[in-house]
Order: sequence, then C-alpha cells, then structure tokens
Amino acid sequence: MSFCKPGNFYLISYMNYSPHPDRYTKMQYRRCGNSGIKLPMVSLGLWHNFGEIDDLENCRKILQTAFDNGITHFDLANNYGPPPGAAEETFGKIFKDNFKVFRDELIISTKAGYTMWEGPYGDFGSKKYLVASLDQSLKRMGLEYVDIFYHHRPDPDTPMEETMSALDLIVRQGKALYVGISNYKPEEAARAIKILNELGTPCLIHQARYSMFDRWVEDGLLDLLDKEKVGCIAFSSLAQGLLTNKYINGVPEDSRAGRHLKNGAITDAQITDDVIERIKQLNEIAKKRDQSLAQMALAWVLKDNRITSVVLGASKPKQVTDAIGAISNCHFSENELDKIELILKK
Ligand code: NDP
Repeated sequence: MSFCKPGNFYLISYMNYSPHPDRYTKMQYRRCGNSGIKLPMVSLGLWHNFGEIDDLENCRKILQTAFDNGITHFDLANNYGPPPGAAEETFGKIFKDNFKVFRDELIISTKAGYTMWEGPYGDFGSKKYLVASLDQSLKRMGLEYVDIFYHHRPDPDTPMEETMSALDLIVRQGKALYVGISNYKPEEAARAIKILNELGTPCLIHQARYSMFDRWVEDGLLDLLDKEKVGCIAFSSLAQGLLTNKYINGVPEDSRAGRHLKNGAITDAQITDDVIERIKQLNEIAKKRDQSLAQMALAWVLKDNRITSVVLGASKPKQVTDAIGAISNCHFSENELDKIELILKK
C-alpha cells in the first residue's frame, strides 16, 4: 500500500472502507448504568462465526455492516474461536485494515474466565490469569487498550477480592477503560459491585444470558443492577438462533445447529417438537407486529429499559440488518405480552 498518499490509503481495494455517513441516525443508544458511556441497543458479538473455520471476507462484511448501521460495540473474549483466540485474531486483522482510524468511535470488549491455556494459571479468576490473558488479547487484536474488560464467570475458589483487584489494576494500568462481570448470580454480583466500588473502579456492566427462553435475570439480577446503576447487556437473546424462523422446517446445514459446533453451541437435540411448536406460535405474533421473529425476540428483551443493549451473534450481514429493525418497535401491548407468556409457560 506504499504507493498511496498517506491519509488516502484506506480508499483503495477492500481496505477502501468508508462507513455509512448516516450510521448514527440508524441506531439508538442507551446509557450504561450511571456511567458516561452509551451503548447501541444492538451490539455485535464474535463468539461464533469469526474463528479459523470461517470466511474472513464474510467476517469483514458482518463487522462493516454492523458499523454502517451504528453498531459501535464489538464484544469478544479470549476463548472465542475456534480455536480459542482465533476470533480476536480475526478481529485484529479486520481492525487493522478497516477500523483503526475509527478506534475512538468503537467500544471493544474482551473477557477472561474460561480455560485458555494449560496449567494452573490459564483459567478462572486469579490476578495472574487475568493480567496475562488481557495482555495476550491486546496482542491478538492489535490494540493498546480495550474499552471493557470482563471477568467471564465467577471463580468458586479465588477470593473475589483478588479477582476484583485484578480488574482494578488493569484499569489503573490503562489496559482497559471500564470493567464488567459476566454470568455472576445476584448475590455474587452484589459482592463484586461492592468490592469494585470500594476499590474506586465501579462495575460498568453485567453481561448475562437473557431471552424469552431463558429468563433467570428476572429473578433478582435486573433489580440489583438497576439499584446499583450498573448496565446490563443481554446475550443469546435469539437463543443461538432458535428464536428465529430458521429451524421451523428442519435444521439447515449451514446453521449453528447444522454445523455441529462445540463449546456450548446449540445442538439438534435442543430443537425438539415442543420448541418448534412454541417458535411457530411466537412467529405468528411476530408477523402481526410486522416483525421477523428475530426482531420480536430482540425487541422483547429490549422492552425493559434496564437492558442497555443486546449483543447479537450473526453469521451473515443480513442478520445484522434484520436485527437493527428490532429497535424501531420495542413496545408490546398487554395483550401481546399475555399471549407470549402463555406460549412460554405452556
Ligand atoms: P444469538 O442468540 O444472537 O444467536 C446468534 C445466531 O442466531 C447467529 O449465529 C445466527 O445463527 C442466528 N441469527 C442471528 N440473527 C438472525 C436472523 N436475523 N435470522 C435468522 N437467524 C439469525 O447470540 P449468540 O449465542 O451468538 O451470542 C451473541 C454474543 O453474546 C456472542 O457473540 C458473545 O459476544 C456473547 N456471549 C457471551 C457469553 C458470556 O458468557 N458472556 C456466552 C455466549 C455469548 P446461524 O449461525 O445459524 O446463522
């Protein structure tokens, strides 16, 4: 690229990405707790579809489509792949080509907490693991800092004071601007939030699974986060693709279930007749709302203002544009909510 004039270098070939000029009119943003940060109502996660087995150009298109539509938040973790680390590497390549000049328009997060390397220091929540893991993540992504660093899951053995002081240290070292927790139950989250407050590095956000099919956060977590003024970002709000119309007529080969992925990915066995029946009924309600089922599923989560953002997974750019459509109608009538409750509780 040395033949390009400096400043114009990103105007050629595939690097020649200019984001849509109206991107910020296409998205709505919600404040994250009582912080200075606003997050897009839809964020993009790189758990699946960004590994070594995935097509780099499709990954690039997904990220560009997201940013073109005002999605300013990309969510990663050390172990996303496959293999672990690969999603950060893919992101790093695309970031270098297309997004480096937009670094200050982006909120990039990563996490550590699951098994990442062999031996006693590559898992859970010690200071040793978290500090080393973030250094590795920054290298893979080619970043100087991340905007949010999460502890990915609670550690039953490491004192929570140590884990939280590692998060505090990482912020003081300038390697992360904010910190968050993920998969912490209400009592665990309450302790973590308290310790972080005492350390002077408040907890920005909790990342929790939340969908029509998985409502554990309604049992105390959302109330706690609201009271503590901590944001909440919901993941797997499409139940990994179940809450869309893709499985209604069988399992497509190129779907997450059809690809037989590992590491917590949805399997054929989860797509039972009962689940399909509920999906069909939910799909009818979505049609009456003029939404795709995916849009209604995201809107259903976003109807609660305590949810700062939903972090979407996408295997194709058009899934991103479909999801954006959710934000224009997050209102549900009492009648619609009652009908949905009936379907979910049957
Ligand atoms: P989703 O529930 O959003 O599922 C994503 C999948 O749904 C896609 O890969 C695609 O499946 C399908 N899909 C998406 N949009 C559509 C659409 N419009 N129409 C039809 N199908 C669609 O979320 P994920 O489970 O992927 O999680 C999202 C993110 O949340 C992750 O990337 C990660 O950032 C975060 N996360 C965090 C966890 C944590 O412990 N903190 C754990 C899990 C996720 P297909 O591939 O079949 O096309």
